[in-house]
Amino acid sequence: MNFLEERISKDGLVKEGNVLKVDSFLNHQMDVALLDQIGEEFYRRFKDKPITKVLTIEASGIAIAYAVARCFGVPMIFAKKAKSINIDGDMYTAEVESFTHKNKNKVIVSKKFLSSDDRVLIVDDFLANGCALQGLISITEAAGATVEGIGIAIEKGFQFGGRSIRNLGYHLESLAIVESMDAATQTVRFREP
Ligand code: 5GP
Repeated sequence: MNFLEERISKDGLVKEGNVLKVDSFLNHQMDVALLDQIGEEFYRRFKDKPITKVLTIEASGIAIAYAVARCFGVPMIFAKKAKSINIDGDMYTAEVESFTHKNKNKVIVSKKFLSSDDRVLIVDDFLANGCALQGLISITEAAGATVEGIGIAIEKGFQFGGRSIRNLGYHLESLAIVESMDAATQTVRFREP
């Protein structure tokens, strides 16, 4: 098991409805040393790519994306959940359905911060059905920028997001891929590398 798989086994909580709670170390209370380690691991996996921006979605991707961007020495952008329906033409927008909240959000990135010269590393905490990633990919491509890679902390391999993103040809790296999990026994099984 790698460092993240070990931490999930120790402190993750399996909830009904295919939800893994990691809020004691990743997305509510944050273990900043673990986040640094995640940043370094994504740097190791993508350092040969000419990354100019790291892109994520608010809220829980932000800390991971910060750690990654710090290693690459590039800016980090997070797509914001738009409060207003009147979005002006200065924004790239995408519709994203939330896996955990079951609602739809419009997310926006200002055109000021992404351009056709950018080589983007997309980062998020979880990959389930892939809606969040599809939104970030469509924003990147609307800007004419290149998706150089996608880094996910925890992929739930039993949901279809990972397969569909890989089938589209993107270079997707997940630090932990959960093969199965069981709320009754609190067991989490990981995909072998
Ligand atoms: P997707 O868009 O791939 O269906 O879901 C990804 C998003 O939903 C992530 O940004 C993450 O915030 C949230 N998410 C999906 N599955 C889980 C989960 O099992 N646990 C937690 N904490 N968040 C999840």
